[in-house]
Amino acid sequence: MICKTPLRKPRHHLRCVQLLLSWRHSWQPLLAALFCTLGTGSSHASPEPGKMLKVTTRDEGGFLHFYVQNLEAADVTATFSMQMTNLEGSTKFPYTATFPGNQTVEAFKLAPIKRDAPWDYSYTDAFTIGSVTAIHDDTEVYALPYAPGAAFRVTQGYHGSFSHTGPDEYAIDWKMPVGTPVHAARAGVVVKSKDDSDVGGPDRKYERCANCILVQHSDGTIGIYAHLKNGGNKVKVGDKVAVGDLLGLSGNTGFTSGPHLHFSVFKAQSGRERVSLPVKFRTADNAGLIIVSGQSYKAGAIEVQQVKAEPPLAGSTTGKGRIGS
Ligand SMILES: [Zn+2]
Repeated sequence: MICKTPLRKPRHHLRCVQLLLSWRHSWQPLLAALFCTLGTGSSHASPEPGKMLKVTTRDEGGFLHFYVQNLEAADVTATFSMQMTNLEGSTKFPYTATFPGNQTVEAFKLAPIKRDAPWDYSYTDAFTIGSVTAIHDDTEVYALPYAPGAAFRVTQGYHGSFSHTGPDEYAIDWKMPVGTPVHAARAGVVVKSKDDSDVGGPDRKYERCANCILVQHSDGTIGIYAHLKNGGNKVKVGDKVAVGDLLGLSGNTGFTSGPHLHFSVFKAQSGRERVSLPVKFRTADNAGLIIVSGQSYKAGAIEVQQVKAEPPLAGSTTGKGRIGS
């Protein structure tokens, strides 16, 4: 299955240059990005051009403060490169940081070295969905992302030479008919849900057209379920999902040579790149294994947390019975 490949890296660049004689002038909102969902180098998740981060500056107390508003529900990692004249920063550049979803935080500040002299700066930034500080919980064993009892063949596994390289090195493709229910492989919060695309095919012109669902896990990593069916998503941003919950329907959208589900778990490396992570799966027959290409895997039953019996009403059973007598 083809699922990746832009040779060019979708990057966002913004350049602002200005010569000012005083701090009176504050920058207007600076950043409005054109960005594909996963930023650097991925096609899977696609696409809609949109804003991911918004940077604003404020003159406060002789410093120029840079605030970053993350417009995504997901963590977003940004890398700033700064060229400065007669300015010093509160951090070293290039500066990489992860900004939490739907929040505005101060990233850094600049101050003039010589108060009475002109100063200027310009910067570039790049950003991508994912956390740079996430550490994958390797004790986590993932469920197969489809219904218990169903079995599908892996057509491209880890290191698949066709397209599972670079940031998609540890991705898996299961061949499955359009409309197959896709279930959560791991619990988390839905941070992206796109299902408005209805086009796809074996051509790079479709690489920004993949529908997808992103689920952010408790360790900060994100699971991506891609190439989903138009109008088939059953969850929305903000939904908490448990293992086995129905997420949506598989499809054939985006850059793909045939109907399949693409799944991987990833984190950010910097604002310019993300990295996928190897994970283990449990199947109907195995408690935790690395999935390989060419094999078919049957999903086992989802273990449901045992619900504790209702505690007895106060006083109604107290003192009755004995254990071990
Ligand atoms: Zn794939």
